[in-house]
Formats: sequence, C-alpha cells, structure tokens
Amino acid sequence: MIDKNRLFARIDDVRDVIAKANDDVWNYAEVYFKEFQSADALAKAAQDFGFETEMGVCGMPTAFVCKWGNEGPKIGILAEYDALDALNQRSGCFEKQARENHAESDPGHGCGHNSLGAGSLGAAIGLKKYCEENDVKAQIYFFGCPAEENGSGKVFMARDGLFSDMDICLTWHPGDGNSITGTSSLASISVKYKFYGVASHAAAVPHLGRSALDACELMNVGANYLREHIPSDARIHYSYLDAGGKAPNVVQDYACTYYFIRAPKAKQAFEIVDRVDDIARGAALMTGTKVEIEHMDGLSDYIPNKVLGQVMYESFKEVGLPEYTQREIDMAKSYADTFDPQALAAAKAQLAKENRIDETAYDGVYIDNTIAPYDHNPEKVMPGSTDVGDVSYCAPTAQFTAATVAIGTPGHSWQMTGQGAVSYAHKGTVNAAKVLALTALKAIDDPSIIEKAKAEHAKNTPDGYICPTDPAFMPDL
Ligand SMILES: [Zn+2]
Repeated sequence: MIDKNRLFARIDDVRDVIAKANDDVWNYAEVYFKEFQSADALAKAAQDFGFETEMGVCGMPTAFVCKWGNEGPKIGILAEYDALDALNQRSGCFEKQARENHAESDPGHGCGHNSLGAGSLGAAIGLKKYCEENDVKAQIYFFGCPAEENGSGKVFMARDGLFSDMDICLTWHPGDGNSITGTSSLASISVKYKFYGVASHAAAVPHLGRSALDACELMNVGANYLREHIPSDARIHYSYLDAGGKAPNVVQDYACTYYFIRAPKAKQAFEIVDRVDDIARGAALMTGTKVEIEHMDGLSDYIPNKVLGQVMYESFKEVGLPEYTQREIDMAKSYADTFDPQALAAAKAQLAKENRIDETAYDGVYIDNTIAPYDHNPEKVMPGSTDVGDVSYCAPTAQFTAATVAIGTPGHSWQMTGQGAVSYAHKGTVNAAKVLALTALKAIDDPSIIEKAKAEHAKNTPDGYICPTDPAFMPDL
C-alpha cells in the first residue's frame, strides 16, 4: 500500500536541495560534454543522500550513474543538465540582457535542462528516502545524461547497455504545459560520404582527371530520385562539407557530402541509409572515383510506453499542480507581454486542444493550470529527434512535460533562460519530482505494472535495440 502523502513529504523535505541544484546548474550554464560543475553538483547531491556514485561513465567525463538499493525492481530516472550557446540571460528580467560579467554569446539554459536535472534528482532522493523508511525493495538508478542538445549522451549510454536491464525508465522536460508524451519522434542517422578522385587541369588534360565533385553531384541526384520510394514521413537532408575548392579550372580530387537521414522508425532509417550508401557507390563507379562512407551518430525514434504513460498520468493528477502567488502570476504575465502575440495565441490554442477545452479557458491565464488527458498516439511523429528515443528501445520508458515557465514561452529563447531560476520554475520542478517519484513507486508497489509495461515494450521492439550510432563513433568531447 502506497502512502503518497508521505512520499510527497519526503520530496518537500528536500525542496531546498532541488532549488539549489536548479539554480547552481542554471548559473554554471555549461554546454555539451563540458558540464563538469553541473554533473558534479547533481551527483554529489545524490551521494549526500546515500547514493553510490560513478562519474565519467561510457567514455564521457560528464556522464554519471548514482545507484541505491540491491534488491527489487530497477528504476531508471534520467537527468539532463546541458545548456545552449548564446542564450545567456539575466534571471527574472523582461528584456534580452546578458547576466552581469557575461557576454551575450555565453551559454544559457534556454531549454530548461537545469530544472530537468534538479527535478530528477529530487525524485531519486525522495523515492530513496521513502523506500528506506518503509522497507520497500527497489533499486534506484539516477542517470546523469550529458549533451542532450548536441552530442546525444544517452545514445552512448544505451550503446554500452546501461539502460538495458532497467525495468522502467522515467524522465520529464520543463515547458509551458502539463502533459504526458504519447507521441513518437523521428529516428535520425548522419553519414559522411568522402569521394577521392584524380586532380588535373580542367582545360589542358581533363581526360586524366576523375572528379570527386562530379561524384557528389551525381550522388545527390540519385538521392533526390530516391525520395519518391521511401516512407512519406522520412527525410533526407544533405550539405557539402567540402566541394573540392574554388577554382573551376581544376578537376577536384576530393569532395565530401554530409547526410542526415530521418524516418519514423529506426529500422526504416537503417534501410534508407543502406540505399543511400549504394547510391554513393554508384556515383563513385560512374565517375571513376573512390568513396569512403563514414557512418556517424544516430538517434532512435521514441517509443512511448502506454502502460507507464497511463500510470504517469494518474500520478500527475494525484500530485496536482502548484499554487502560484499573485507576484508569480504577474511575472509570468510580464514575460507573456514579450512574446509575439500570434505565437502566444497559437500556444494557447495548442494547449487548449491538448486539454480538450475551449481556448477562452486560457484568457488571463499565464501559467498552465491544467493537466492534459493522456493521449497515447505513437503513430503521430513529432518532427524532431531526441536521445530519449534510444532509452525507449532499451527499457519501457515514459516522460512528461511540466509547466515551469509562462504559457507560450518559446523553446531555446532568452525568455526560457530568464525564467529558469525563478520561484515558479522551482515549484514546477518540485512538482515534477513528485510525479516521477509517484510513477516509480506505483510501478515498484504493483509488479503487474512492470510486467505489462515490459510485455508492451517487447511487442514494440521485436528486433531489440540496434544502436544507430556506429560502434566506432565516439562522443565528440
Ligand atoms: Zn531540451
């Protein structure tokens, strides 16, 4: 039998720890694979509460695993803490302005990952304290996942099997609404095609030359013809990394193109990569050049687990939403006043749609006050990609968004950074910790949840997990 109020009290006990981690990581604002102080702050905080900590896992100095418990279900709680370049911004300031002693080009937490890490930390600590006090058997893994924005830390952790023996994995993302993620995201794989030809003077002895640039161009033509014959939601993007040089009177002996291949499912992306590889070989054959194919990094599509998503939604409803002071509401309104009115109206319309309520319900509302009904719709593919996708191939995974900023706050914006360490961000983050912890505790308490979640996961991943990042590709530290 779960005593959820007791669990919430354990999280309220560490409210200051959560807020401090939130603000410290916000202040450090470190970008991908440079999150040394941020990773340290989170791992040390977990260690202070009795977690065993291992820093620098999977070849990434800023990745860590904190573990507590030796028996019972394995619960993975994921944290992120990387910032974004050029999003430095003063806290609680209603115009674009860099922090004191900082340049505008300095990094800032424009995606709220400071709150993401702190909320997950709070969940791990609160859950551990509850399990300890109530003699609940569980193994809690607090995963420090670096470089979500750039570098995809979780993929390397997934490749090394860190998530594969978890019973469930849970995470969240700060945002302007409250909802469980029931949709999928695109799988994405990047590949470099390097063509080697023979240089020659293009006017004097062109017959002796073999053009690497021609090979790139023919390859791209071939890829463009391929578009008709791939799933309609798949995407092929390319750029020239090296067109061989600027002189037209030279037959270019080296050229390189860089491809992103995206598809709703990782398996489809793998198949398209195979065909694009063949096109590259064909282009080399046509031009008498040689091609070197360098498979690089990739991201799997996200598979939302319905069983866990429903438990998460029930948990979210039981936790409820924070209450805000008039001062906080006024602050959110001041931020809303800086948004493009059309974009703000569109954001409200979107939230109303998710919540299945009338748009007018959001008149005069500045921080989301509803929890959207769980809409499990994996057929719907969000146009972006995330490294949580790879986790979702390794273990049943669920995630949610919780409101930590004003409605309509654009992602990766100075307004997002500016609200990252204010009091309503703290409230949203503590609330998120409770949702994560209660979801986990329900799964620990009722073995049928994990059983059903795993059966669903097995059905959704018949081929298991095939890492889309090449075995030879190492983190870009
Ligand atoms: Zn993010």
